[in-house]
Amino acid sequence: MSEQQRAERPDERTERRVVIAGAGMAGVQTAVALREQGFTGPVTLIGAEPHRPYDRPPLSKAVLLGKAEESAFDIDFEGLGIALRLGCEVTGVRTGAHELDTSAGPVPYDVLVLATGAEPVALPGSDGVPGVHLLRTLDDAARLRPVLAAGHAVVVVGAGWIGAEFATAARAAGCAVTVVEAADRPLAGALPAEVTAPMAAWYEESGARLLTGARVARVEPGAVVLADGRTLPADAVVVGIGARPATGWLADSGIALGPEGSVTADAALRTSQPDVYAVGDCASFPSARYGTRLVVHHWDNALQGPRTAAAHIAEQGGAPAADGAEQGGAQAADGAAEIPPYDPVPYFWSEQFGRFVQYAGHHADADTLLWRGDPADPAWSVCWLRGGVLAAVLAVGRPRDLAQGRRLIEAGARLDTERAGDPSVPLKSAVLP
Ligand SMILES: Cc1cc2nc3c(=O)[nH]c(=O)nc-3n(C[C@H](O)[C@H](O)[C@H](O)COP(=O)(O)OP(=O)(O)OC[C@H]3O[C@@H](n4cnc5c(N)ncnc54)[C@H](O)[C@@H]3O)c2cc1C
Repeated sequence: MSEQQRAERPDERTERRVVIAGAGMAGVQTAVALREQGFTGPVTLIGAEPHRPYDRPPLSKAVLLGKAEESAFDIDFEGLGIALRLGCEVTGVRTGAHELDTSAGPVPYDVLVLATGAEPVALPGSDGVPGVHLLRTLDDAARLRPVLAAGHAVVVVGAGWIGAEFATAARAAGCAVTVVEAADRPLAGALPAEVTAPMAAWYEESGARLLTGARVARVEPGAVVLADGRTLPADAVVVGIGARPATGWLADSGIALGPEGSVTADAALRTSQPDVYAVGDCASFPSARYGTRLVVHHWDNALQGPRTAAAHIAEQGGAPAADGAEQGGAQAADGAAEIPPYDPVPYFWSEQFGRFVQYAGHHADADTLLWRGDPADPAWSVCWLRGGVLAAVLAVGRPRDLAQGRRLIEAGARLDTERAGDPSVPLKSAVLP
């Protein structure tokens, strides 16, 4: 009997098999965290892309500009005993049978971790039009590099995080850049108008043209046509209008899906089905800290969440479930209470137009906004307070505000608004006793 056959017969196996669907940041971190936390059973990482697992943030930065060839994770998968199955698409899951369907055939599991990330939203009607690009994968970045190297005229659709970073790189490469945004300002989905107002100037300052309130009617080869009839010549069009959890393949699985099609996970990152966890961009989780369910499409969440999921998997021990018996599931296993609930202070950064932009926390419209500094200056911050307690901080070129703010949010600190509004006072010195 081969090793594989033995591994697939429950009576012959002594350790549970963990299979991770999706070999991006969250999938890779889950596999590594399992080993760090002492899990010794088989771990298989399945990824649709043919490349060795890689990091995405450099794609819109160094990789795009040709300053880095690629961004593969520096991890010895073989040494860690993590089996990689690359170029293999997961197409469905039968949770009753504990089996995944993949392009290479069925794959049995004892514990499944969903880590399929997110996929970019396509511009309606642009499918198959030559010269239209998305920016999510290494292949996308490789296709865009020659566009930048040739200094082509580019139209970017969407002034969000990806649009801003791509525009930054394209300007650095000497491209003529026009950014088309349907809302009346950049980052309209992420930040309030008064905070994004100064950011509009960053585009112009870099030499990019920002057209707000501009809807795309259609994309033609060589041009973008706006709803008001204007035609923008474009050697290439880059679409950055958002991303959605890549969960289409779970439609008939019985695994509950929630906001934006994200996998609904609990505070242990368990899904509605036994022995199935979800991490990273594809998952949503309840935040007791913010009193709402969060879907976080940022790198730090794909680093932290896997540690929680791996802790729960590792602490259930190694033996596979007997036929018909369930392990895990929505109920906490013995001792699970010792693992803190997943309730992070979300964090992300963006590098755009020569600025380092960082955000920690989560704000709501009703929160009180407090400026630290003048947005006309190169460095400034904004705090959001809820009932006097720091809920979120945005820092532009003020990493100390971010670092201190993040810790204060974690601690639930109340701030003296007068001192917190004075950029010469360190944020930590504005805490009320
Ligand atoms: C260009 C770019 C720049 C970014 N820059 C920043 C930044 O500066 N700061 C920041 O905080 N965040 C940034 N992010 C966000 C960050 O990279 C993501 O939050 C992070 O990659 C999420 O990791 P993930 O593993 O959940 O998802 P992903 O990285 O999307 O990985 C999921 C993997 O699963 C695979 N997959 C999907 N479906 C299937 C399937 N059915 N079968 C098999 N495999 C499948 C995908 O091919 C993919 O490789 C950036 C993202 C992009 C795209």
